[in-house]
Amino acid sequence: MKLIFLGAAQTVTGSCFLLQANNKNILIDCGMFQGTSHEENLNFEPWPFDVTSIDYLLLTHAHIDHSGKIPKLCKDGFKGKIYCTRATADLCAIMLPDSGYIQESEAEWKNRKRKRAGKALIEPLYTYQDALKSLEFFEPIAYHEVVNLRGNITIKFSDAGHMLGSSILEIWVNENNEETKLVFTGDLGNHDIPILKDPERIYSADYLIMESTYGNRIHKERENKARKLLNIIEETIKKGGNVIIPSFAVGRTQEIIYELFKHNEVDEDDVNFLNSVPVYVDSPLAISATEVFRNSLDCYDDEARYYIKNGDNPLDFPTLAFTRTPEESKSLNEDKEPKIIISASGMCEAGRIKHHLKHNLWRDDSTILFVGYQAPGTLGRRILYGAKKVKILGEEISINARIENIEGYSGHADQEGLLNWLKKFTKLPKKVFIVHGEPEAQETLAKLLKKQLNLDTAIPERGDNYELTLHKAIPQKPFGELKENFLRLQLLAQVDALSEELYFLSRSLNKEVLNSKEDEELMFIKAKIEDVYNQIEHINKIINNKAI
Ligand SMILES: [Zn+2]
Repeated sequence: MKLIFLGAAQTVTGSCFLLQANNKNILIDCGMFQGTSHEENLNFEPWPFDVTSIDYLLLTHAHIDHSGKIPKLCKDGFKGKIYCTRATADLCAIMLPDSGYIQESEAEWKNRKRKRAGKALIEPLYTYQDALKSLEFFEPIAYHEVVNLRGNITIKFSDAGHMLGSSILEIWVNENNEETKLVFTGDLGNHDIPILKDPERIYSADYLIMESTYGNRIHKERENKARKLLNIIEETIKKGGNVIIPSFAVGRTQEIIYELFKHNEVDEDDVNFLNSVPVYVDSPLAISATEVFRNSLDCYDDEARYYIKNGDNPLDFPTLAFTRTPEESKSLNEDKEPKIIISASGMCEAGRIKHHLKHNLWRDDSTILFVGYQAPGTLGRRILYGAKKVKILGEEISINARIENIEGYSGHADQEGLLNWLKKFTKLPKKVFIVHGEPEAQETLAKLLKKQLNLDTAIPERGDNYELTLHKAIPQKPFGELKENFLRLQLLAQVDALSEELYFLSRSLNKEVLNSKEDEELMFIKAKIEDVYNQIEHINKIINNKAI
């Protein structure tokens, strides 16, 4: 059989792998590339395979970087079946049409500019309607249900504890009277994510395809994250300000609602203040997603089930309100009562959160509380890293609000979590393919797997192609032209990172640093900057003359 890496190969987004065995073509995930505009352009590249030849798509979970290109795949001629868990299918039923709507709006916005410039108009990647049509291909199955596919291939999903419905995928391929087992971790969750169960144990694999998002990080604040959340809320409300929580509409929002519900339940003096604080969830997608959560009790952990058994709804409490219309959303900013507003998008790039930031960033009594990863280049990242002013909806806003971040709510296992999960195997894989991570995280994890478990690892690039037998993995000629494109993408990512560093450097050059007397240290800094400048000039010459 052959395993080809088509996305999330030395990047975090765009998860997509092609498995070819016994004349069957199986895709594992079909995710969208997200982040920089260069990465996003990859979504418009032609498929590197014949879409009509794909027999099955096995989907690990509903996040757009794993599912986001499904409507395009179906629009372009996919005729197979999409297997995933029930909750994943339910979440895709709201997230994919939402994504279609975003694609349409983006194309419309670009076309307005292109029209003015006399350029040809572009088509959206797919539309809301395309997304709705793609839902017909979904065949939800239960966790642990063993399904035999054509071509002597068997599959099973187990709970990955990363988001509602998320799964670890086991695939058994019977070829030439030999059975080879592949395990795809999908995205692997944490042990203490509110509502969700812990990631399930897997005992064996011949080949493991493993995520590595936090391969080089240990999450801090795991234990006291709820305490920190409550303290920040209490301090802000007492001052008369608002707590604004930018949050991903699906997953993190429901986890925060659950955390607030839990502390609303306990009758302790130190959390009594919560009973009178209104909490608004202001994101239409978050509202639909909360409905899916309320209908997926089978995915809940013991604690959440306990509340249900006692007749409680852990995603509801008396002071919680959902705002549906834009008018309701706007009225939140006119009302002076201190409140908590949870709104999307999580990285502050789009959606209603922008209005709430505009009305609260300048207030020194309000708090902006981040509970998720902020990618380089996003508005969320600039606020979190200490910008003094930002431009929102065409207006320059000074930042006087308190800025806080709680790391512990991450949906991904950290380095320790990844290692501990793998250490529970009774039969270790012959090779681990490390995917879904930035290069540094991947290399750190690869070294640790070698050192602690003596495992053979590979960090595949986009287009890498392996022949897998029960005994060994043999690298093949790279798949199509993907490789060259990928090198350019890597270069662009380096330039982006450098440009961000330069931005923060210029911000650190404040008056205090520059007005101090011309001492040796300052001279040294100047010489270093001159040096960097020369290096950039050199690179510029190479690019312009293409002479190397
Ligand atoms: Zn995910």
